[in-house]
Amino acid sequence: MEYIQADIWVRFQRMQGHEVHFVCADDAHGAPIMLKAEAEGVTPQELVARIAAERPRYLQGFHIGFDNWHSTDSPENVELSQDIYRKLKAAGLTYTKPIEQFYDPVKNMFLADRYIKGECPKCNAKDQYGDACEVCGSVYAPTDLKNPYSTLSGAVPVLKTSEHYFFRLSDKKCVDFLKMWIEEPGRLQSQVANKAKEWLEGKGDKALGDWDISRDAPYFGIPIPDAPGKYFYVWLDAPVGYLASFKNYCARKGIDFEQFLADKTTEQVHFIGKDIIYFHTLFWPAMLHFAGKPYKVPDNICVHGFITVSGEKMSKSRGTGISPLRYLEVGMNPEWLRYYLAGKLNASVEDLDFNPDDFMARVNSDLIGKYVNIASRAAGFIEKQFAGKLCQSLPEWEEFERLQESLAAASLTAKDVNEDFIGGIPAPKDEFADLEKPSRNFSANKGDIAWLLSGAQSAAKGIAHYYDNREYAKALRIISRIADDVNQYIDHVKPWELAKTRNEHTQLHEVCTVSLNVFRLLTLYLKPVLPDLAKRAEEFLNIPPLQWTDVAIFLQSNHTIKPYTHLMARVDAKQLDALFDIEKEPAKVATSTPHPASPSKAGVTPPPQPSPAGAGEGVISIDDFAKIDLRVAKITIAEHVEGADRLLKLTLDVGGLGTRQVFAGIKSAYDPATLVGKLTVVVANLAPRKMKFGMSEGMVLAASGDAPGIYLLSPDSGAQPGMKVK
Ligand SMILES: [Zn+2]
Repeated sequence: MEYIQADIWVRFQRMQGHEVHFVCADDAHGAPIMLKAEAEGVTPQELVARIAAERPRYLQGFHIGFDNWHSTDSPENVELSQDIYRKLKAAGLTYTKPIEQFYDPVKNMFLADRYIKGECPKCNAKDQYGDACEVCGSVYAPTDLKNPYSTLSGAVPVLKTSEHYFFRLSDKKCVDFLKMWIEEPGRLQSQVANKAKEWLEGKGDKALGDWDISRDAPYFGIPIPDAPGKYFYVWLDAPVGYLASFKNYCARKGIDFEQFLADKTTEQVHFIGKDIIYFHTLFWPAMLHFAGKPYKVPDNICVHGFITVSGEKMSKSRGTGISPLRYLEVGMNPEWLRYYLAGKLNASVEDLDFNPDDFMARVNSDLIGKYVNIASRAAGFIEKQFAGKLCQSLPEWEEFERLQESLAAASLTAKDVNEDFIGGIPAPKDEFADLEKPSRNFSANKGDIAWLLSGAQSAAKGIAHYYDNREYAKALRIISRIADDVNQYIDHVKPWELAKTRNEHTQLHEVCTVSLNVFRLLTLYLKPVLPDLAKRAEEFLNIPPLQWTDVAIFLQSNHTIKPYTHLMARVDAKQLDALFDIEKEPAKVATSTPHPASPSKAGVTPPPQPSPAGAGEGVISIDDFAKIDLRVAKITIAEHVEGADRLLKLTLDVGGLGTRQVFAGIKSAYDPATLVGKLTVVVANLAPRKMKFGMSEGMVLAASGDAPGIYLLSPDSGAQPGMKVK
């Protein structure tokens, strides 16, 4: 998801004419990799290489176009990490102090908290980790454990002192710099900036500490200069890996690395998950700032949430994940996933959900049913009746130009593109929200075509704004709305009827030319998300690769298109079954990226969230339950749905939340007439779902068992529509 999110952004920036270098690297170092390699009898380098070997398959498979993929276990990273350290040391920002820590006398190594277990000092539960008890939720230091043992050898660990290296993160000049950096408008998402400030301004036992940057041998990492047996803690050199990858790329491409970083117009933008905010908003900018030239501080850190599957966390062991390689192996189109994720991605750090039914609906009805459909509806007529040629000139051109003038504020020029859309700064207010709204009743009036063309063209500015700010879902909603407009227009003018009579051929030609012109604009707008589909659409339209400034152009003057071949197949439910069934098989080969220790295990991060007492399979916390917004609803209309065997269409009055339309599978149990006026309970915050018969904006609750019968829930008398159920 992260690679797709970043790749869309990069492709969009390039379409704007910006120069973008898109790099990443494996996080190779750390104790977990070292121990896993040891257990498998290979070197850490061999283990990392084996995991890395899988990556090109899914990067290429999903059209993710990194310019360079490198490793933190590389000469460039050793050089840059040591250089940054030396500069920080020279700036007086490092020091050493002795640390007493558990040591495994059998393995001859110091033990990170996660390799120590023992009995909880509070409740005496056995086999608890060194930082927190999973049974009673207490948080403590490893030295507080009763009967501690090393999970590596089983030996009783001994306390041993070692000299550790520290970075003065709590130094006033560091804190002052970070406050300034964090608060720079447009730098960070507000949730991220707030979190970073909270860490920075912590008091008492949450006060910001200095950062322990060393680990003792044996450790798979980068040696600290002039400190025999000491290595950089993996999180020091992991982010430097971005620069190491870029440096490696520069050498290949003949770019001057230092000069490029020093250029004032260069921006450094990171895409990361919400679990590593701490490292990227505190240590990383501070390290770069105080190391000085040639390093520059990041301009933006773009943070995304996690992906859940049908509302559940991805977990290999419970079979609730999706493997990208499996997705490709079962023959699913990678651009379906790119489109689906883009349709859900926004600039917040909220998690997003992959839901198979929703996936199928969005791809089949939105992407194919709306966008691809336009080309297939218009192309045949152009090909057969007009020898593949579009009109000499677009109809209603004067009206179009008049509309363009009146839309000048919202319309787009090449100058706008190059000046407005650099940098990821969120707009103060959502000035483009209107673009998502529907639209027009086509009515055989003059002006429909001019309205369609100018509407589709003038949306470019809003769509660009949303892409630039990673509000992809909003961009796609506008695109989908324009596609709706064209399809409604085609339904209204009925080209298949125009084709029957010779004297309406001019109008047929115009309708198809206009439709294909809007299709071309939609292709341009979707190109960052669907690079491969766009390429094939460009071939079909017989045009050079689309750039953003091409929104100003229309196809006319007898432009010839190529014969249409279907651009994309629909999702088959069987493919989704295959994706999930196979995932449920146990003991699949692990394909995950090696990752530095999770932040909760790092020296100075806040303690991990203890899990609720008694938590286990299928048990949820009160917080999970509270996420469901249950409301009392009054059924105001209940109707049969033509063509639906199980469904009734209900219109609900949900008090202050307004009215909702819901499709409920209760047809077998209820006559619609008996439902009107009844109170029931609705899940009010369920994501709206596009069904075959229309939008369903919630779910009513009903009971059923093994015996036939469905029983709608209703509240006791006196309840009012809109009341919360809790
Ligand atoms: Zn306990």
